[in-house]
Amino acid sequence: MNQKTTKVAVLGAGLMGHGIAQVASQVGGFDVSMLDVEQRFVDRGVQMVKESVAKFVEKGKLTKDQGNEAISRIHPTTDLAEALQGAQLIIEAATEDPKLKLELYQRVSKLADDNAVIASNTSSISITLLASATKIPENVCGMHFFNPPQLMPLVEVIRGKKTSDLTIERVREASSKMGKETVLCKKDSPGFIVNRILVPALNEAIFLVQEGVADPEDIDKAVKLGLNWPMGPLHLLDYVGLDTTFNITQVFMEEFQDSKFRPSPLLREMVRAGMLGRKSGKGFYEWDSPGSTKTK
Ligand code: NAD
Repeated sequence: MNQKTTKVAVLGAGLMGHGIAQVASQVGGFDVSMLDVEQRFVDRGVQMVKESVAKFVEKGKLTKDQGNEAISRIHPTTDLAEALQGAQLIIEAATEDPKLKLELYQRVSKLADDNAVIASNTSSISITLLASATKIPENVCGMHFFNPPQLMPLVEVIRGKKTSDLTIERVREASSKMGKETVLCKKDSPGFIVNRILVPALNEAIFLVQEGVADPEDIDKAVKLGLNWPMGPLHLLDYVGLDTTFNITQVFMEEFQDSKFRPSPLLREMVRAGMLGRKSGKGFYEWDSPGSTKTK
């Protein structure tokens, strides 16, 4: 059984997928296929990789040749069979929708090599559930990168109910090749480690605004200076997206059945009003245009 990873297939070329493909090629030196469902999404992914590589070159962290090599090792495609061909590690970074992912896992299971590892970048969906859609659940685990994958040093590796030790070992090894530190989440538990701690903290910051205890600017300043966070919690919420955070609190409520994860009513209200943060131009702060700099 060939367990050495030389080719990585990244499924999904969005915000996370393009970054994972880039880091797998640029740092890991792997041959990479990058799949999305439509050519325009694949093209957008390639464009994002090119822009990010250009920044590394601009900052002197890569030579132009190294940058071009990294780009040339990424093979964009819309054909799943082609993407999986010869891949020992499949990293799934498709849309966070359980139904969509389960369908994808069924198709992957039919086409992938029986020795391939299937690692999901999901933020909230059960690894055990995703594994149940395949015929090789022992080869399925979580491989949770942080945004942007090109810069954030951590990967959480998550063990599903049937994940084998070998699968965990192979994902840790590939992560390390990609320049990442890993931590092992020994159980398939919602939010894994980081989001389990972070999301309640972000929610609590919203409760402080709702209760009129302090203004957003002061809450962010307090946490930055008092806890040494690089960014305050409300600023971070605007970055992550209030809708995304709200969805995670919903998953926590459903899975843990514990009121300590109850989303703040203000969060729910802001999501209903379309105040989603940076992506919609307004959240706790105003953004010049979706995705651009903060004005207030
Ligand atoms: P995104 O919407 O930017 O990208 C998802 C991509 O998947 C889209 O381009 C979509 O067309 C594609 N896709 C949908 N169905 C597919 C299929 N069947 N095959 C291949 N591609 C398909 O989303 P994202 O932010 O990149 O999130 C992707 C995954 O990463 C999710 O599971 C999310 O929870 C997780 N994640 C996101 C972040 C974050 O900060 N955004 C951080 C960590 C993990």
